Amino acid sequence: MNKKTLIEWDKKYIWHPFTQMNQWLTEEPVIFTEGRDCFLKDIDGKWYLDGVSSLWVNIHGHRRAEIDEAVKAQIDKLAHSTLLGACNEPSIVLAQNLAEMLIERLPWGEPLTKIFYSDNGSTAVEIALKIAYQYWVNQGIKEKDTFVSLKEGYHGDTIGAVSVGGIKLFHEIYKPLLSKSIQAPAPYCYRCELKLNFPSCGLACLGEMEKIIRQNHERIVAVIVEPIVQCAGGIIVWPQGYLKGLRKLCNKYEILLIADEVATGFGRTGRMFACEHEEVTPDIICLSKGITNGYMPLAVTAVNEKIFNAFLGEIEERKTFYHGHSYTGNPLACAAAIASLEIFKKDRTLENLPPKIELLKNKLSEIAELSHVGDVRQKGMIAGIELVMDKKTKEPFAWKEQTGWKVVRLARKYGVWLRPLGDVIVIMPPLVISEENLARLLEVIKDCIIRISSD
Ligand SMILES: *Cc1c(COP(=O)(O)O)cnc(C)c1O
Repeated sequence: MNKKTLIEWDKKYIWHPFTQMNQWLTEEPVIFTEGRDCFLKDIDGKWYLDGVSSLWVNIHGHRRAEIDEAVKAQIDKLAHSTLLGACNEPSIVLAQNLAEMLIERLPWGEPLTKIFYSDNGSTAVEIALKIAYQYWVNQGIKEKDTFVSLKEGYHGDTIGAVSVGGIKLFHEIYKPLLSKSIQAPAPYCYRCELKLNFPSCGLACLGEMEKIIRQNHERIVAVIVEPIVQCAGGIIVWPQGYLKGLRKLCNKYEILLIADEVATGFGRTGRMFACEHEEVTPDIICLSKGITNGYMPLAVTAVNEKIFNAFLGEIEERKTFYHGHSYTGNPLACAAAIASLEIFKKDRTLENLPPKIELLKNKLSEIAELSHVGDVRQKGMIAGIELVMDKKTKEPFAWKEQTGWKVVRLARKYGVWLRPLGDVIVIMPPLVISEENLARLLEVIKDCIIRISSD
């Protein structure tokens, strides 16, 4: 189909996510037609380096032969069957592979052995919240009806996930619809609510968290966080010790800890799971984005045996978890995920990261010197560059200037594909990226920041 018609139809029929459609209609959209390695090709034949892993999902590159083959082979057998009252082979094998990996990687508490499937990060979170709530109810504890989450937190766009969301711009408007939650300050040291710097901000924020938990623990179901890096909130990287301290608090007050590793999971932070950095085992973990290397929608909520066992009983006891989706355990998605996990071993994906992480760190420290760069933050292969109007006072650019957008739009000209979070330039390339391409990505970003923001 020709480009002109596609654009016409797109503008006529598609409502794009997180997009002011008024603005969209005035611009020429990019139509991607092909991917290879860390690159995407548009309909005009122009190639772009994929600097944000196609919204944080790609790990091993586009069009990986092993995953292509696995999905094709599965298509020739079975595309879908239900997990409601039945099984299929890929979902069983993947559950075993994931459980084994979770047990091995997160050995510091009750191992996460039970896998509940769904098909996106938001539903993985909904499931975690519902399981956590019912865990207590099934034990006769009904006064627990409140979640604790963090400001600047992001857990997805469905109503339950929005209830524990902390990004004003996205979440505030829905307040009347939401369930009960209390928000603790985020350990966002660059703009610390408690006016403290790195790393004392971390301890102080943990102190605030403790206050909230101490005063409310009897009605708190669980604390839900994005461990180590709050991604959508602006790549907020926690000071060391916060996560470990949070785990201790949850233990002390007997509250469940839900780790939303939808973005941080599958190697992004340099370890398979972010929780590994502080030797923390959560009670529930949510995984999605990277799980299929971006091939198919799939998500997992994994829980420990203690939680699972609280749902066992006679049918009339009503302890069953009455939840499931049409595409739960979809065989094609599970086949893609199994193949993606195998690539981690074959490519030695995690073992190959340290020099790339070092390169990213060095390039970021150059960028940090620029006159409109307020802060650079990094954990493993995730990084954020916060642009500000005034480096000394940290005063942001006027919101409607869309400075972050201007930078990424200019980067397109140089063949780099990015998507910012406000004025934070996000860097989250596929882990397979070569050092050469990573260096180029950072060079282009640096150049574009200079061109857009220099006065
Ligand atoms: C993206 C994201 C989600 C939501 O996942 P979707 O698949 O977009 O619904 C939830 N939590 C975190 C931490 C995320 O980054």
